[in-house]
Amino acid sequence: MFNLLVASNNQHKIKEYQEMFSGYQVKIFSPKELGINVNPDENGETYEENSLIKARALAEFSKMPIIADDSGLNVVALNNFPGIHSSRFADSCGGNKYANPKLIEKLQGFSDKSAFFTCVITLLNVEEKPLVFKGICPGKILDKPEGEGGFGYDPIFYSDEAKQCFGSAPEEIKNKYSHRAKAMAQLIEYLKSKKLI
Ligand code: IMP
Repeated sequence: MFNLLVASNNQHKIKEYQEMFSGYQVKIFSPKELGINVNPDENGETYEENSLIKARALAEFSKMPIIADDSGLNVVALNNFPGIHSSRFADSCGGNKYANPKLIEKLQGFSDKSAFFTCVITLLNVEEKPLVFKGICPGKILDKPEGEGGFGYDPIFYSDEAKQCFGSAPEEIKNKYSHRAKAMAQLIEYLKSKKLI
């Protein structure tokens, strides 16, 4: 069994990781389960930097293999806003319930509604150097939120590849086409190539 510490207490992310690792001999732990409480300042300028900051903060407490995921939504007409500030933008609006309509409003008057989710996963404590896996999920912002599924910006995001909104898509569809799924597919290939899973 490959034990893996996921540097997130976001239950939605943890659940997605659990589902994507099902079928492999992987046991996932959250920091909370191990009694670790870290909240590093995500002051990097890229997803890669923030992902590494999160992974390194946790590595001070554990020698276990660690993955940290930094992700966000990039809206093309808004110069990729909110991007690495996705979480902060949602918080500043009082949560995604308010941030999602606000983003739709910001896009009014733009004909280009294209957007993409990005996910960068950093793996620590396996090789000497951190390893980085990146996934992009192309799509567009809808004119109104749809569905109760997923989390965060999912209800306003239509995936071009899944051909549906992540807010109303079944979990297995999101976990097949999402930015996280794409970064994960590379991570799984790597772990398999090293015979770790
Ligand atoms: P992080 O936890 O710092 O990586 O923040 C990521 C933010 O981007 C979250 O607060 C979500 O609002 C948003 N986000 C990341 N991944 C997803 C996703 O799969 N669906 C919807 N929103 C996401």
